[in-house]
Amino acid sequence: MRLGSSWRWQLSRAMRLALRLRRLCRPQEGGGWVGVRLSAAWRYGKLLLRSLYYNSLTNSDTLLDCAFEPVYWIVDNFTRWFGVVFVCLVVLLTSSVVIIVYLFVLPTIFSSYPAHWIAWHLCCGHWLLILVVFHYYKATTTSPGHPPKDKRDVPSVSICKKCITPKPPRTHHCSICSLCVLKMDHHCPWLNNCVGHLNHRYFFSFCLYMTLGCVYCSISSRNLFLDAYSAIETSFQTPPPDLSPRESVGHKCIIFLWVLTSSVAVALGGLTLWHAKLISRGETSVERHINCKEARRLQSNGKVFRNPYHHGRLNNWKLFFGVETRSHWLTRVLLPSSHPPSGDGLMWDRPSTSSDPMAI
Ligand SMILES: [Zn+2]
Ligand SMILES: [Zn+2]
Repeated sequence: MRLGSSWRWQLSRAMRLALRLRRLCRPQEGGGWVGVRLSAAWRYGKLLLRSLYYNSLTNSDTLLDCAFEPVYWIVDNFTRWFGVVFVCLVVLLTSSVVIIVYLFVLPTIFSSYPAHWIAWHLCCGHWLLILVVFHYYKATTTSPGHPPKDKRDVPSVSICKKCITPKPPRTHHCSICSLCVLKMDHHCPWLNNCVGHLNHRYFFSFCLYMTLGCVYCSISSRNLFLDAYSAIETSFQTPPPDLSPRESVGHKCIIFLWVLTSSVAVALGGLTLWHAKLISRGETSVERHINCKEARRLQSNGKVFRNPYHHGRLNNWKLFFGVETRSHWLTRVLLPSSHPPSGDGLMWDRPSTSSDPMAI
C-alpha cells in the first residue's frame, strides 16, 4: 500500500503543518509577529509582480503594447493571409479595366478621333500600362532588404527585441513579416510585401503611374460614361429603347470603368502625394512618426529637430530614383528600369554633423 494513502502519513502531514504554523506564529527575534511576516510576504509578492512588468526601460507604451498584443496578433495574421487576396484583387481589377478599354474605349477612339490623337492615345495608354505592370511586379516580388545575419560588423543603433539582432539605422521590425526591414517604410497589404530599401522606388512608381493611368482612363472614357449613363436612364422609360445585348453590356462596363478609375485616381492620388511629400523631406512613413515625436520633445527643451537624412528636396529625389546623370530622368524614371538603389541600406550618408539629433 502507498504511503500517501495511509492514515499514518495523513497524521504526520497534519503534524508537520501544525508545527510550521506554530513556528510562523512564534515571536521573532526582532519582535515581529505573524502580521509582520504576512505584511513582508505581501510586500515581497507586490515587488515580484512589479518586477515582471517593470524595469528602467519600461513605460506606459510598453504596458499598452502588452495589453493590445492579442489585437496586434489578429491584425497581423489577418493582413498576412489576406495579402494574397488583395494582390489577386489588384490583378483582377486592373485586368478588367484593360479589357474594357480594349473592347469599348479604343474602338470609339479609332472611329471618331483624327490620326494624331489616335497615335497619342495608343502611345500614352500603352506607356502607362507597361509602367504599371512592371512596377507592380517588381514591388511585389523584390525583397525590401533585411540586415545580414552572418556579418559581424553590421553598423547598428539598437537591438531588435523580436529578432535579437543588431538594427542598422533606419531599420525597423515588421511584425507581419516577422523580420527586420532596411529603411522600412510600411507593410503594404496590396503588395503583400514590405516596402523598404530595395523596393521603395518600385512602390512609389507603381502608385504614381497607376494614378496617372486611372486619370487617363477616367478622362478618356468621360464622354462614353455620360452617353452610357443617359442610355441607362432612358432604359427605365416606356417603351424602353431598342439596345443590342453588346450595347447594354458595353454601357454597364463603361460605367464600372469610369467609377472605378475615378475613385482609385482620387484615393491613390492622395496616397501618392503623401509619399511624394515624405520623399521630398527625406523621410519614410515610420520616420515621419518618430521625427514628429522627437521634434515635439526637442521643441519643449528649446531645441530644433533636423532630419539627418534630408539632403535637400532635389537631391532627395535624385537619391530616391538613383538619378546620376540627366539622361537617367528618362531611362530610370520615365521608362522601366531595374537598377538597384544607391547605398547598401546599412550605412547612410548624413549631411549634418554627428551631434545633431538623429532618427533611428
Ligand atoms: Zn526584427
Ligand atoms: Zn512586412
